[in-house]
Amino acid sequence: MLNLHVHYEKVIPVIVPVEDGLKSINFYIVKHGQSLSLIDAGMNNKACWDALISTLQKHGWSLTNLTEIILTHHHIDHIGLVNAIVAKHPIPVYASPISLPRLKRDQAFLEMRMEFYAKLYEEMGCGEVGKQRVAFLRKSIEENRNQAIEAAVHEITEKRLFQFDILEYPGHAPDQLAFYHRQQKSLFAGDLLIQHISSNALVEPDDFGNRLPTLSQHVQSLKRCNDLKLEVVYSGHGELIHQPYELIKKRLDGIEEKSERFLNMIQSGITTANELAQTYYKKRYSPLFQLVMSEIIGHLDYLEVKGKVEKVLVQGVWHYYAKQNK
Ligand SMILES: [Zn+2]
Repeated sequence: MLNLHVHYEKVIPVIVPVEDGLKSINFYIVKHGQSLSLIDAGMNNKACWDALISTLQKHGWSLTNLTEIILTHHHIDHIGLVNAIVAKHPIPVYASPISLPRLKRDQAFLEMRMEFYAKLYEEMGCGEVGKQRVAFLRKSIEENRNQAIEAAVHEITEKRLFQFDILEYPGHAPDQLAFYHRQQKSLFAGDLLIQHISSNALVEPDDFGNRLPTLSQHVQSLKRCNDLKLEVVYSGHGELIHQPYELIKKRLDGIEEKSERFLNMIQSGITTANELAQTYYKKRYSPLFQLVMSEIIGHLDYLEVKGKVEKVLVQGVWHYYAKQNK
């Protein structure tokens, strides 16, 4: 293809501070060639909207200069403004095919997902607390119906999109993609890597209701990130990450250490995921139930894949035991 002028790329972060542990919600305006892409779209709130508009204005643009929205994953703090933007200025939205039922809030999919958690929490010994969580999920399927992404979503199925290599980095979310710019040595990585906190591998079903090995996926994604030439990772939260290799190592080491701690607890006689969660997370167990159970179940699956634990179903609840030949 004839390409006479050098395509200068400019990345303009939109960083919206938040009170909680995430520090900030980040999304990115990327100028490349004739395009002005928005990578991720913050929360659906005034702070994110105002930040987007004022950042565009500061650079002499307005909403109508945006040419497309590209999503790293379907979580609400990454897709919030999509409907509002597209309503005013209809541009294409790109996302992983795996994002689709989640973005569209496909009722059959959401009900399958709810059944998945109902069975999971029961089998992990969560009893009443698990049932309450599922009731809450059931309610939120109804309440959040109107948050479905209305725009037509273009599925990203090619290995390249615009000037980015498309990399599949599941783990934190099953649909998580990263956008790699080879010349700039930069990576838009969603929540794969966050400078100030370790990102969660959230337990999720695949499209057929089978539990995904989310922590193993997250570990693989981090390791694959090591093979890229990277100067900067544009993270979904907190600071931009320069020279990320040390942080990647720290996160990978952290996961191994945590797994070892859970293995020790199992060796000391704790057998169910729910007991592990209550013992390890104490006061945080209740308010952070879903996150906490994700973390424990992720590590149990991880230990099982590594051949360090095995499980037995007793009266409908999985009990985990350390394998002798560990
Ligand atoms: Zn996320």
